[in-house]
Amino acid sequence: MRRWASNMNGERYCANKITMEIHDLDRESADCGISEVIESGLDIPFTTLFEAIIRGFHSCELCLGQFELKCIIDKSQIINRLT
Ligand SMILES: [Zn+2]
Repeated sequence: MRRWASNMNGERYCANKITMEIHDLDRESADCGISEVIESGLDIPFTTLFEAIIRGFHSCELCLGQFELKCIIDKSQIINRLT
């Protein structure tokens, strides 16, 4: 569920600045605790998963676990392109 509270403005991805986890709000689990993250003001919005991964966030196992490998591959490809 997309949020329009705290730092969120309807973006698909929400990161927790303490745990450094990124969540997919279109696939979130109740156990992701997104509401608590936003209520604590720890939310960082991202429109793309790549941007979050490049900045050092790691995907939440509950909502993005199956995409972790793809993200690691994409990250290495992007880093290769930048260096
Ligand atoms: Zn999650």
